[in-house]
Amino acid sequence: MTFDGFETLAIHAGQEADAQTGAVVVPIHQTSTYAQDSVARPRGGYEYSRTANPTRVALEECLAALESGTRGLAFASGMAAEDTLLRTVAKPGDHVIIPGDAYGGTFRLFSQVMQRWGVSWDAVPQTDPDAVRRAVRPETIAVWTESPTNPLLNVTDIEALAGVAHEAGALLVVDNTFASPYLQQPLRLGADVVVHSTTKYLGGHSDVVGGAAVVADAELAERLAFHQNTMGAIPGPFDAWLTLRGVKTLGVRMDRHCRNAERVATELSRHPGVERVYYPGLAEHPQHTVAKRQMRAFGGMVAFRPSGGEEAALRVCDRTRVFTLGESLGGVESLIEHPGRMTHASAAGSPLEVPADLVRLSVGIESADDLVADLAQALGK
Ligand SMILES: *Cc1c(COP(=O)(O)O)cnc(C)c1O
Repeated sequence: MTFDGFETLAIHAGQEADAQTGAVVVPIHQTSTYAQDSVARPRGGYEYSRTANPTRVALEECLAALESGTRGLAFASGMAAEDTLLRTVAKPGDHVIIPGDAYGGTFRLFSQVMQRWGVSWDAVPQTDPDAVRRAVRPETIAVWTESPTNPLLNVTDIEALAGVAHEAGALLVVDNTFASPYLQQPLRLGADVVVHSTTKYLGGHSDVVGGAAVVADAELAERLAFHQNTMGAIPGPFDAWLTLRGVKTLGVRMDRHCRNAERVATELSRHPGVERVYYPGLAEHPQHTVAKRQMRAFGGMVAFRPSGGEEAALRVCDRTRVFTLGESLGGVESLIEHPGRMTHASAAGSPLEVPADLVRLSVGIESADDLVADLAQALGK
């Protein structure tokens, strides 16, 4: 039987009941090596766990299905996925266009690592596809985008950017961490590669660090798999298992994340102590129309600027009780943070510097009433 509903794929793709025991859940294959029946004849097709491990393969097949890709590859972290992908597609002399408000770690990878290896980059505001087109150079091999972005929740038109990239003979890479494949499937919109920090919504429980890349083209997938094996930044079997366990409930979790975030964004936008709210689901968001077209719903991330400047922002972060002050995002529990001094501190003085009075929320799946009340008390006198 074939099936292709998203929630069905999340629970079943790559996850047949175990042939030997009937175990419904893919086992944690905690092994480095595999028995061979005779020389160079591995019994079950596996030789060594850097190259392939059944628990990791289950996760990789599931992620490929969820992103409508040809092949998924899992990595030890989102950054490991990005690094391995870049060293697969770029060589010295090449150029990549990155978002003007890229994830801080991505910016650091380009500015402090890839640059030393001769890969140049330009950080361009990507909400305007023409601005990206103007930044294209003969040596541009990729347009790297995120949507929605971190922490300002800008939305880029993935289909339009795929057009710009392909016109230039370049790849479009989409960091789909904030949306997750449940809300947005970039490969269906023309992107070539999707990268994830599975640490966030895919894992979903703040208990494991991981990354993934899902590729549309089989030949590129093959080259990336070669680099995954050669460079070796793979997740262990238990981490792959935890991530796969999280993925099973992605749909129901995202529905609640989105519902709660919409409620929080709406309440904040009505609050007299709040100057500005950033959430793609609000009608006044500058790219609301694009978001509506390419996303199922608007995600669980909300940013806002309280009146009273940086001091007020720091006070809110210190005062919440349900929202935990901490970095990261995408888990079932709500988190609050101050990007200027925490996740984006390293962007100070760069084109990616964020407003000092910005507060970022990862809205969890607790009771919405408690979340709204917590923010109201934290914003109070
Ligand atoms: C967290 C994150 C990453 C990096 O992933 P790690 O798993 O922390 O290495 C990349 N992109 C985005 C948008 C992220 O939020």
